[in-house]
Amino acid sequence: MCGVFGVSNISDAAHHVYLGLYALQHRGQESAGIVSVDDDATTHGHRRMGLVEDIFPPAVLDSLPGKVAIGHTRYSTTGSSELSNAQPCLVDYHTGSLALAHNGNLTNAAELRADLVRKGSIFQTSSDSEVLVHLIARSEAREPEDQILDALERVEGAYTLVMTIGKTLYAIVDPRGFRPLVLGKLGAGFVVASETCALDIIGASVVKELNPGEWLRIENGRVQELPPLPSSPPKRCVFELIYFSRPDSTVFGESVDRVRRNLGHRLALEHPSPGADCVFSVPDSSNAMALGYAEESGIKLEHGLIRNHYVGRTFINPSPSTRIEKARIKFNPVRDVVDQKEVVVVDDSLVRGTTSQSLISMIRQAGATKIHLRIASPPITGPCYYGIDTPTREELIASTHSVEEIRAHLEVDTLGYLSLEGMHDAAISGKPGYCDACFSGAYPTAAPGERSEQLHVNPAIPAVAT
Ligand code: AMP
Repeated sequence: MCGVFGVSNISDAAHHVYLGLYALQHRGQESAGIVSVDDDATTHGHRRMGLVEDIFPPAVLDSLPGKVAIGHTRYSTTGSSELSNAQPCLVDYHTGSLALAHNGNLTNAAELRADLVRKGSIFQTSSDSEVLVHLIARSEAREPEDQILDALERVEGAYTLVMTIGKTLYAIVDPRGFRPLVLGKLGAGFVVASETCALDIIGASVVKELNPGEWLRIENGRVQELPPLPSSPPKRCVFELIYFSRPDSTVFGESVDRVRRNLGHRLALEHPSPGADCVFSVPDSSNAMALGYAEESGIKLEHGLIRNHYVGRTFINPSPSTRIEKARIKFNPVRDVVDQKEVVVVDDSLVRGTTSQSLISMIRQAGATKIHLRIASPPITGPCYYGIDTPTREELIASTHSVEEIRAHLEVDTLGYLSLEGMHDAAISGKPGYCDACFSGAYPTAAPGERSEQLHVNPAIPAVAT
C-alpha cells in the first residue's frame, strides 16, 4: 500500500510534497521519495528507506528545485524491503525524463515482466511499477500520452498513478478505481493526493476526486481532462474506508470518520453486549468504530488500551515466542479501566489473529472478568491482489476456521464479526461499485498465482476439523 502526491505550478514544490507525504505517512512507512522537475525540465530525486521526517532534512529539500514535483510513501510489507524498490521511479528515455509514483498492484505484472525480459528489458527493481516504465519507454508512439495509453492497455489490476514526463504532471486512476486520488488547488497551482488529509496540510482546497478511469494532464496552471480509459465496472476498495485511510479524509466521497462510526453502530446492533461495563477500541484505526458502538449501545466508552505512537503501523511478529513481547511494545491496557470489569473490545478487522491474541491475553492479565471482542468488518477469507498487504490465504485465520474456533483460539468470552450485508449498509449505504473480495471472494480480476492455492491451516493455531 502506498501514498502518492504531486504538485504543479507551485514554488518550492518539493517542500509541499514533503508536507503532503508527511500526511500520507500512514499509507507507507517502508520508504519515501520525491522527484522534482526544475524550470529547465531537469529532474532531481531523493529516495531513502525510512520515515518522511528523517529522509528529507532542509538541505535535501533545497536540493530538489522546481515548481513541479511528485512523491511517494511505500508500505512496509512482510517481504523484503529494499531501496531499489523505493519510488518515484525515475528514468531518462527517448522522450525525456519520466518519474512515476504508483499506488496499487498490477495483477499481470509477472507475465508482462517475463515478456519484457525476454525482449531485452533490464529491470533494476522487483516492483510491479517498473513494468509500466518499460512499457511506456518501449511504446512506438511519439506523444507521451499515447505512450502511456499503450502501456495502460496492457496492464491489469490496481493503479493510481502520479507521474511526470518533462514538466507535465499526469494523474491517472485505473478503470475500476480501486485506490483513491483527489485533485486540489493551491494558488495558481494544482495538487493531486491519495487522500484529502494531504491537501489540508498544505492549505489546498479540494477540486474533485478522480473517477475510475479518469486521467488528467496538469501543466502551467491548467488542468486538462484526457479521454477516460476504457470503462470497467468500478471497484472502489472498501478496506480503504474500514482500515487504511485516515479518518480525517474524505475517500470515495465518504467521510472516513462517519463510515467508521456507522460501522460501530451497526456492529452494536448485530452483536450487542448486554451487561458490559465499558467499551474501548484497539487504537487508533478502530477509535471511531468504538465510538459508534458506545453511542448505539449506551455502554460507556473508555480508553482501555494505550498505543505507543513510536511504533509503526506494522503487523506484530507472528512468531508465538515473541508476539506477547511485541504486542506489549505497541499496546498497554489501562489497569484501572479494565480491572474487575466486563469489557467490549472493538477492532476494525482480524487478519492473522496474532495481534488480537496477545492483546486479549494482556487485557485478561490486567483483570478483565469477561471480554467481548467485536470486529467492525466481516471475516477476511481471501488475500488482496490490489494493493492492501494482507497475507497469503493460508495465514488468514478466517479462511480456515469458523467464528467459534477463532473465539476459542483467542480465548474471548464472545466474538462477533459484522456481517457482509451490515458492512455494505453501514459503510456505503448499499451502493454498488465497491470491491469487497477479501471478505466475499468476489475478485473483479483474474488473481495472480498465490503462493499456495491450497487452503492451509493457520500455523499459529492448532488444526480443528470444520
Ligand atoms: P491480527 O490480530 O494479527 O489479525 O491483526 C489485526 C490488526 O491489524 C487490526 O487491528 C487491524 O487494524 C490491523 N490491520 C488490518 N489490515 C492490515 C494491514 N494490511 N496491514 C497492517 N495492519 C493491518
